[in-house]
Amino acid sequence: MRQATIIQLTGLSGAGKTTLAQGVKHLLEKDALKVVIIDGDVYRKTLCKDLGFSKEDRMENIRRLGAAAFSFKDQADIIMIAAINPFEETRNELKEKYDTRTVWVKCNMPVLIERDTKGLYKRALLHDKHPDKLFNLTGINDIYEIPVSPDLVIDTSTATPGQCIRQLYEFLILPGVSYFHRPAGG
Ligand code: ADP
Repeated sequence: MRQATIIQLTGLSGAGKTTLAQGVKHLLEKDALKVVIIDGDVYRKTLCKDLGFSKEDRMENIRRLGAAAFSFKDQADIIMIAAINPFEETRNELKEKYDTRTVWVKCNMPVLIERDTKGLYKRALLHDKHPDKLFNLTGINDIYEIPVSPDLVIDTSTATPGQCIRQLYEFLILPGVSYFHRPAGG
């Protein structure tokens, strides 16, 4: 019977959570492992579409993503939740409930503003009266609590995507992290 490890990939928008999750999924699948990605951006359009960006809603969003991840636990080896997940309290809640591991996908602000793949930083940095101004972008005008004791920190501003994916892969295949290690010959 499979028993999956649930990973919380947390970090600011554009830090690289989706890129790393997809990249490492590809590597793990070459090892015949089953990987599920619970992507916050995707679920915000479906299961979480009634939620906004208040603290309560952001916390509820993560609770639902945790429950969604857990629902795959018998069908996968690794399940990754890729969402900003800004509050220590909710990260800890998922850790308590589902024995998750936390990976902080870290990236400094100048690099995030330079990347701005979704155009969100540009909008958040507009003056307050501008019609396109975004008022709740995590890291600019909304809170991101730095993870207190993450199991792994990956700084995507100082390494290539390939190097970061490799770093995540090496971590995920550690026996203390994953449960899919089968006895030799078994
Ligand atoms: P998130 O899911 O955290 O919002 P994305 O993965 O959607 O972030 O976007 C990250 C962007 O940064 C992508 O365009 C990716 O190609 C780019 N990028 C540049 N360097 C890295 C790196 N070392 N690791 C991950 N992404 C990187």
